[in-house]
Amino acid sequence: MAGRKKVLLPIPKNYSASERELNEKCAVFGVYGPNDDAARVTYYGLWALQHRGQESSGIATAEKGRLHRHAANGLVAHVYSTEDLVKLPGRISIGHNRYATSGDARELYNQPIMNTAKSFAFAHNGNLPDYGKLAAFLQKNDVDTAHLNDSHMMSEAIDYYVGKGQGLEEAIVSAYPLFEGVFSAVAMDDSKLIAFRDRCGIRPLSIGKLGDSYVIASETCAFYTIGAKFVRDVKPGEMVIIDERGITSRQIVKGTQKLDIFEFVYFARPDSVLMGERVNSVRERFGVEMAKEFPVEADVIIPVPDSAIPAAVGYAKASGIPFDMGLIKNRYIHRTFIQPTAEMRRRDVRMKLNPVTESIAGKRVVLVDDSIVRGTTMRQVIQMIRDVGAKEIHVLISCPPVKYPDFYGINTPDQADLIASRLGVNEIRDYLGADSLYFLSHDGMVRATNLPESVFSLSCFDGVYPIPIGRQAKTIKRIPANPHSTKQKRPASAKPIKALA
Ligand code: 5GP
Ligand code: MG
Repeated sequence: MAGRKKVLLPIPKNYSASERELNEKCAVFGVYGPNDDAARVTYYGLWALQHRGQESSGIATAEKGRLHRHAANGLVAHVYSTEDLVKLPGRISIGHNRYATSGDARELYNQPIMNTAKSFAFAHNGNLPDYGKLAAFLQKNDVDTAHLNDSHMMSEAIDYYVGKGQGLEEAIVSAYPLFEGVFSAVAMDDSKLIAFRDRCGIRPLSIGKLGDSYVIASETCAFYTIGAKFVRDVKPGEMVIIDERGITSRQIVKGTQKLDIFEFVYFARPDSVLMGERVNSVRERFGVEMAKEFPVEADVIIPVPDSAIPAAVGYAKASGIPFDMGLIKNRYIHRTFIQPTAEMRRRDVRMKLNPVTESIAGKRVVLVDDSIVRGTTMRQVIQMIRDVGAKEIHVLISCPPVKYPDFYGINTPDQADLIASRLGVNEIRDYLGADSLYFLSHDGMVRATNLPESVFSLSCFDGVYPIPIGRQAKTIKRIPANPHSTKQKRPASAKPIKALA
């Protein structure tokens, strides 16, 4: 582009861990009309999508050919004041919540992104693990990519075509082949709202109706909050354009649905509906499947709050063992930008969770969590429960062992840090200090969704990446079915339950 210095940089061979943590699981939102207060609707939409990103939040609006933007680090409740929203006039708006787990809080990476001419804004949930082609294209066209992350590169590529005189819609279609990776994205200019999704629809994206106008959200839970009605999901490979004519659809490439099943396991809000299935119900059925696969004789079922609550409810319903909130979560814990001391980091789980002694002491406990990543949470929770006198601790995890890193926009550590990439089930059990440990089977997990396996990406579990991960593929180590251990065995103390629902 004119005025830009041509800097040819080597394309990064690999993301460093901190670079990968820059664009994690995020939330996007967009609204077209019905009145001049689009920013306020977006604000409440982002509020409902806070779980998808707590590091920063941003809103862009358009009014009479001018785009406005406000973005800052922090939670939605902290990022916007009433005055900030007043300075965001217009009937079209997009918003974004960003998530990262590292201490890195560079405002530079906050979204929505506006192009230099301030003629459009763009927000992205997902990750491009293989941005070589995109970076090379930009470099060839005199764009310095040194400080751009994948989302910014996408915006620059769209801007390149806008600079060639294309409208936003055409520019996205032109740039789309450069986007190798995962994206549920929204974009806007002063006359339209656009939403588009990668060819596998790895991250969710839905369309809602608000009065006579349309809204777009990462998850359907946002529709209820703002009084919108769910219409349908944006299809894989599809672009929808919302403007004064209403809504139009363009299938940019042929799509094959491969939703990341981890959305059901951990990430999505339980009240959201993904591909027609209520997340809460799917999680309850995870619990029912676990009760069928691994019935334990116990006195109480306790979830690690909040994400494991529905699975524990399902296990309790199916087994008849009483459910109890034996762990209480401090609901006001969120990211602070004060670096924790080493001692506080060690006590991390204790800052979030307290045990309820009366629910635990002297009891045989079934402890349910949604997933084990590094194993740090569960190890500390088990210690906490032992300390208040649990007699036995049987751990149930409502997904299979996470053996492969995610490259599609969820933050997981490097493969070596995934405990299941190094240890078999029995070793993990011993490391955690549990009496028994059971991971829901692959088939049980899929069955619980009521959807065919073919519509999912299961890459965290099976290492099959439906969208190429480029050079990252070389870093992946194949893990045998169950290294070192062959069977998930019940200990003698954990007898099968006779009658199961
Ligand atoms: P671990 O302590 O084993 O590393 O992580 C497992 C715990 O983290 C579980 O309680 C699960 O609910 C939660 N978890 C799973 N995936 C994610 C994620 O992508 N981000 C965050 N913040 N937590 C996660
Ligand atoms: Mg958890």
